[in-house]
Amino acid sequence: MRQKIVAGNWKMNNGKGETKSLIDGLKKEIEDLSLENTRVIIAPSFVSLESAVNQAEGTSIEVVAQNMHQAKSGAYTGEVSADMLKSIDIKTVIIGHSERRSIFNESDETLAEKIDAALANDLEVIFCFGEQLEERKTDNHLLEVGSQLKNSILHIAAADWKNVILAYEPVWAIGTGETASPEQAQEMHAFIRNVVGKKYTHEIADNLSILYGGSVKPSNAEEIFSKPDVDGGLIGGASLNAEDFSAIIKAI
Ligand code: PEP
Repeated sequence: MRQKIVAGNWKMNNGKGETKSLIDGLKKEIEDLSLENTRVIIAPSFVSLESAVNQAEGTSIEVVAQNMHQAKSGAYTGEVSADMLKSIDIKTVIIGHSERRSIFNESDETLAEKIDAALANDLEVIFCFGEQLEERKTDNHLLEVGSQLKNSILHIAAADWKNVILAYEPVWAIGTGETASPEQAQEMHAFIRNVVGKKYTHEIADNLSILYGGSVKPSNAEEIFSKPDVDGGLIGGASLNAEDFSAIIKAI
């Protein structure tokens, strides 16, 4: 069954102490919620990942990684492997965030390698993609997203889709305060589901969770989440505040 998911991407924010306070705050905010078929995910920095995993144990909060390297081990200074993540009980990793693409030059081909490495290591993948403003303005958004999917993920085995969550994040809406309209999100999510359904099976597409990301906040979450193909959100800025993030969780 398709799951509802609210995931917070903390990016390069919060050291150990702040991570502890934010998780404590979030625990309090959501402890009485009945989260049936809904997953709550946070992605702290690598520095606080293990302490966050320990702190979240026994709660409904899942702790995931923001990135990983595709190689098994070796001379990759500053990088973290799938095995390392698994050694601290991480089960899920975000791959392809637009900041990884634009700031760290990760190409579709590199992201395909990362996806393969994560899945081969039994890690679940949250795969992010989305068009630039220019592509939206010139009505090339569907073409661009179709191409990113084709170049990075449409080669995986059918059986691996149970370990994939997709996150559509139009680049022009990330951290800008500008959000895709619920209609724009729905159009794209239906398109994505159709692409996966055509290439694989409709059952795989139906069971796939597709998240929307881009300036989701308490004031707009409910409207976006109400669309039939939007299964939740990947939240940046608003996930750094326990009250705001929990308000978004309550909107699902
Ligand atoms: C993100 O970084 O994935 C994101 C959606 O950020 P924000 O919510 O701040 O736009």
